[in-house]
Amino acid sequence: MSTDTPGSQSSLHRANLERVLRAVRMAGSLTQAEIARSTGLSAATVSNIVRELKESGTVVVADTSSGGRRARSVSLSGDAGIVVGIDFGHTHLRVAVGNLAHRVLAEESAPIDVDVSAAQGFDRAEALVERLLQQAGFRPDKVIGVGLGVPGPIDVETGALGSTAILPGWTGIAPGHELAERLGMPVHVDNDANLGALGELVWGAGRGLSDLAYIKVASGVGAGLVVNGQIYRGPGGTAGEIGHITLDEAGPVCRCGNRGCLETFVGSRYLLGLLTSTLGPDLTLPRVVELAHQGDLGCRRVIADAGRQIGTGVATLCNLLNPRRVILGGDLADAGELVLAPIRDSVARYAIPSAARQLSVVPGTLGGRAEVLGALALVMSEMGDSGALGRPAQASAAPGFVARTAG
Ligand SMILES: [Zn+2]
Repeated sequence: MSTDTPGSQSSLHRANLERVLRAVRMAGSLTQAEIARSTGLSAATVSNIVRELKESGTVVVADTSSGGRRARSVSLSGDAGIVVGIDFGHTHLRVAVGNLAHRVLAEESAPIDVDVSAAQGFDRAEALVERLLQQAGFRPDKVIGVGLGVPGPIDVETGALGSTAILPGWTGIAPGHELAERLGMPVHVDNDANLGALGELVWGAGRGLSDLAYIKVASGVGAGLVVNGQIYRGPGGTAGEIGHITLDEAGPVCRCGNRGCLETFVGSRYLLGLLTSTLGPDLTLPRVVELAHQGDLGCRRVIADAGRQIGTGVATLCNLLNPRRVILGGDLADAGELVLAPIRDSVARYAIPSAARQLSVVPGTLGGRAEVLGALALVMSEMGDSGALGRPAQASAAPGFVARTAG
């Protein structure tokens, strides 16, 4: 509105309203007291805003109890809009459809060939999105936005996948532009480690925290960093490339062009290579983890050594960022204490005590779903509040790639 000058009563009200909506959207549901705490608004202001949002049908309010006392929980109305998450991995494609009240309405994953071309990958994703929307009973014009996860760094300016990405046929392609064009919906793109961090922050092992790191160990190794409740990406979008910390200058050549990066010692190809002479060539990382749980000494040793190396990287991360929690994701996380205990040992050895003291190292609770749920959360975190207010989604009118600003 043209009368909505900054500092005016109505713009202040509007800003407060958006703060409340954002807090509820990211948490799923909150009591009014929790909203007041997380937004810094007074109880009376929160109460007025919640009443207004309830009357407009944007939120629903239900009776609950908090610490033994009666309270009212506020969540977004299930009709407020639909979000779609897509996660492209090295060997899988996963799609989820959810609403703004944090309910996952449909979800499916399908294997994809690592050498699949980008076009074939997009075909598969497009078909899966259409099918799941149908299954959930929503038309495409109800979709507020799509979150897309890809296994590699995204160039902030061009939206193109960097050359160190895990999918070889995808280098230089801008997957966000491509999918926005095909689906006719706004698409937000991020790398898989950032989405894993967001997924665990909103739905999993990081709930309620504002500073954490999610470390994904799979074919590659990457970290998603949450600082002050926000994903930290850096100006170029490549923050969190923990897999390329140098451990040995004379070590094996890495796909990034350097030598002896952490990834060359704990990436799945390296770990499997250590075991093929004893266990055969058809080994997978999940199988190695399974054998380790059954007591196979070679598998246990390989996982423990990987844990020590990961811990060296985690110690560096702790000294720099002092996160409250490090959440391990990816195939190796299923090894549980077999990999977590050696990580903690290395952290105790290499991190400064004040940084390590408050740190907990835990496995993710979402498993292979962390990234696709994080893709749903990405849309909720990046969207403006107009969609949540029940206005028509912009998607059908203005398809386009939404360039994410870093930081
Ligand atoms: Zn490297």
